[in-house]
Amino acid sequence: MTNETISKLQQIPGLKVLLGEQIGADYCHDELPDARPYAPEAVCEAESTQQVSQLMKLCSEEGLSVTVRGAGTGRAGASVPVKGGIVLSLKEMNKIISVDEEAMTMTLQPGVLLQDVKAEAESHGLYYPPDPGEKTATIGGNVSTNASGPCAGKYGRSCDYVLDAELVLADGTVTTLSAREDLRQVLGSEGTLAVITRLSLKLVKAPGADVILLLPFADSDTALAAAEKIAQADFAPAVMEYMDGEIVEFSGKVTGNPVFPLEIDGCPVAATLMLSLEAEDEDAVEELMEQFAEYAEELECLDILVGDSISMKREFWAAHDAFHNSMESAVAQVEVNVSVPSLQLSALINYAKSLGEEGGYKVMAYSHVPCGGVHFHGVSDMSKDEFRDRAAAFAKAVRSKCLELGGSATAEYGVGYANIDWFKSSDAEGYQQMLQAKAKLDPRGILNPGKVVEQC
Ligand SMILES: Cc1cc2nc3c(=O)[nH]c(=O)nc-3n(C[C@H](O)[C@H](O)[C@H](O)COP(=O)(O)OP(=O)(O)OC[C@H]3O[C@@H](n4cnc5c(N)ncnc54)[C@H](O)[C@@H]3O)c2cc1C
Repeated sequence: MTNETISKLQQIPGLKVLLGEQIGADYCHDELPDARPYAPEAVCEAESTQQVSQLMKLCSEEGLSVTVRGAGTGRAGASVPVKGGIVLSLKEMNKIISVDEEAMTMTLQPGVLLQDVKAEAESHGLYYPPDPGEKTATIGGNVSTNASGPCAGKYGRSCDYVLDAELVLADGTVTTLSAREDLRQVLGSEGTLAVITRLSLKLVKAPGADVILLLPFADSDTALAAAEKIAQADFAPAVMEYMDGEIVEFSGKVTGNPVFPLEIDGCPVAATLMLSLEAEDEDAVEELMEQFAEYAEELECLDILVGDSISMKREFWAAHDAFHNSMESAVAQVEVNVSVPSLQLSALINYAKSLGEEGGYKVMAYSHVPCGGVHFHGVSDMSKDEFRDRAAAFAKAVRSKCLELGGSATAEYGVGYANIDWFKSSDAEGYQQMLQAKAKLDPRGILNPGKVVEQC
């Protein structure tokens, strides 16, 4: 970048421009494991749509690449400047503009954190359901990756909640898109087609009451078969998580707080289903729970454990959300996130476990059953170097199997630069549509180059 360009950036009123040592290491990576850092030439922190528009106009004229960044919690390398240029941080665009209780909508800037979106909705007696787990992610990042998570089966994904969006295009044009148009492709493009500068979100009525039920099973296939039966029945669980015994045990040891049962009356628990049932009030939830307990007799679970107090529900969720970080304690580990039609979960999980048995490492899994998303973690006591080839072979084999079973090998974490080939083989038509949209909306290829449809 020339000094002249830097000076033009610095002349954009209010835009904060960081250069050289002012650029912290955090701007050079996201949460993609074992990835090399990529440093931008400059970081620009914007506070307004106007600043974003002026910056994009300048970068378009100069052919300079721009990588938009929310909180950098992505796990596909999507917000990392693999081709240098500018990182445009929107974390200061973090105002909630308005909440309309009657219309049940929230208008806000993209840098608002998910945890703040949820808390604001709650303070108005409303509910914003999408929740990928990482609550320090921004709403802009969530929408740009169409983030999902445990409740996506019942409530849908992040893009499903966007009513309209203000966008800045690659040439600096400011425009709005409404849900009547094809929002999902542009919004969920991981910052490759436009910069989101404002969102209007649909909120829903908060469930009046809810309860968490834990159903431990003696074997994994019975647990998944039970999950299928529950999905066909009338209970409409907001969440149905499958957690295998190995991940529960491993994570419980790391946190020192083994919340989920490891055995029931001397029988080892091979898998647990965690269900959340919702109804309009406490009485209705009580009644639903009783109906469920009666129904569950045919499910072959070892017990039903009830979490009805706020503290118990928090404890269950904290134990579930700890799975991910617990893996950091392994000497070497590999994570693969894929999704398959829920009827194929057993086949995929059994296959992944067999790879671990053959390769001499432990494979653990948990799954958002209704949408078929599975998080696999392979852990080993081998050194990282020793494990590297096995980890790569495991990830490749699981993803190939997932495609064979009719699933998506990119699943929740998006494409970024890490999953481009898998995007192509999971969804050839979607890939072609993205290529066409890129040619139309960003012909100079300055928005987030090296991502989604273009190798770095
Ligand atoms: C422990 C952990 C668990 C996770 N679990 C899940 C999970 O279960 N499900 C799931 O879906 N994700 C999960 N994630 C991934 C991550 O939290 C999500 O991808 C999240 O939506 C990213 O938000 P962010 O603000 O950090 O975005 P970033 O990582 O900063 O950016 C992600 C992408 O969005 C683009 N972007 C960001 N803001 C904008 C904007 N305003 N306009 C245009 N483009 C923009 C970036 O260019 C980039 O391509 C997890 C992450 C961690 C660390």
